[in-house]
Amino acid sequence: MSLEVSKKVSQINPSATLGMVNKIAELKKEGKEIIAFNVGEPDFATPQHISAALIAAINEGKTKYVSVSGILELREAICQKLKKDNNLEYSPQQIIVSTGAKQSLYNAVSAITNEGDEIIIPTPCWVSYEEMVKVNGAKCVFVPTNETDFQLDLKAISQAITAKTKAIIINSPNNPTGAVYSQESLEQLAALAIQHQFYVIADEIYEKLVYDGQKPVSIASLNKAIYEQTITINGFAKAYAMTGHRLGYAAMPQSLATIINNLQAHMTSNSTTPVQYAGVAALESSQECVSEMANEFDQRRLLSFDLLDDIPLIKYNKVTGAFYIMIDISAFIGKQYQDYQINNADDMSLFLLEYAQIALVSGKSFQAPNFLRFSYSTSQDNIKNGLKAMKAALNLLK
Ligand code: PMP
Ligand code: GLU
Repeated sequence: MSLEVSKKVSQINPSATLGMVNKIAELKKEGKEIIAFNVGEPDFATPQHISAALIAAINEGKTKYVSVSGILELREAICQKLKKDNNLEYSPQQIIVSTGAKQSLYNAVSAITNEGDEIIIPTPCWVSYEEMVKVNGAKCVFVPTNETDFQLDLKAISQAITAKTKAIIINSPNNPTGAVYSQESLEQLAALAIQHQFYVIADEIYEKLVYDGQKPVSIASLNKAIYEQTITINGFAKAYAMTGHRLGYAAMPQSLATIINNLQAHMTSNSTTPVQYAGVAALESSQECVSEMANEFDQRRLLSFDLLDDIPLIKYNKVTGAFYIMIDISAFIGKQYQDYQINNADDMSLFLLEYAQIALVSGKSFQAPNFLRFSYSTSQDNIKNGLKAMKAALNLLK
């Protein structure tokens, strides 16, 4: 016998995004004032009418086990949303509601992978994809996006396809780059997926946060063949400021919905019942709260661009989605201030925490070792003060 623990689970890395959240909480407890540009969640309160629906559901005793895949009312509302916003036709049997889009993604990866399969992930990418793939015994094949605009590099993707390719995970609008993939690139990707018979996991959680007139395209809507090979992921966290409610969903071909339903039945069962009623209220009420939040994010995005333009040596793209900007700090590698030597993005993130009292996540866990991820999900005052402090601190590095 042996008390050896799972090799697959032990190799999972800590979450850099959630780790930073804990670190800031500790620093705040010590009385240090840190401006957080690390946070990957809307800073707004959940809209009042959504909270009211949750409380009403609890008061009405809607607190029991329900169907594993979610209450029918919510799955019907999701189908209507997908039809109206995304030009996608699904029946409620093809929708699985889960405990956050994170679980929807994990379910999707688990449902399609076998030991040794390869999953293509365009980079920079969100921190959790790699760990989800690894723990399911599959291998990540990272393919960089275009350096100038973080759009998909179709040639590089095509060269990365092998007989073992099982899927590609795409995320548009993208965390951490802010890129919104063009319709043309998604059409080309769909053609590759159909030709080589692999799945597309399309993470569309930032769909509502787009600017400059961008209209994100759902790859599954492009044609019938790609619809049959796509699992579309979405959720309530980013559009409705509901991160802590933990409510996400996936839409997929019926055969996959059946096996994912069985998987979830033995993992978590249904996601929290009253929260699902809050989800119905979110989808079926006026969407004004969504556009109000998106408008404020846009103001902050433009303000951030103005202030970043004024900081020497850094580089970034004027991106049009989500609430992230990737800041290229390559020009500072090798520079030094007192006992701080900047050798990589981790060093820069620590340096800025110490000398500018601002928190940005190192790009290392996003497969972008020369970048820091800046989230503008904070007040305009914080953006002004924080970027002023960043400029002053970077000026110290020689
Ligand atoms: N996908 C991306 C790209 C994300 O940034 C996040 C983080 N919120 C998720 C999925 C997971 O969302 P949820 O909070 O609904 O689990
Ligand atoms: N997705 C957000 C982020 O990237 C929240 C933290 C997480 O779940 O990773 O920061």
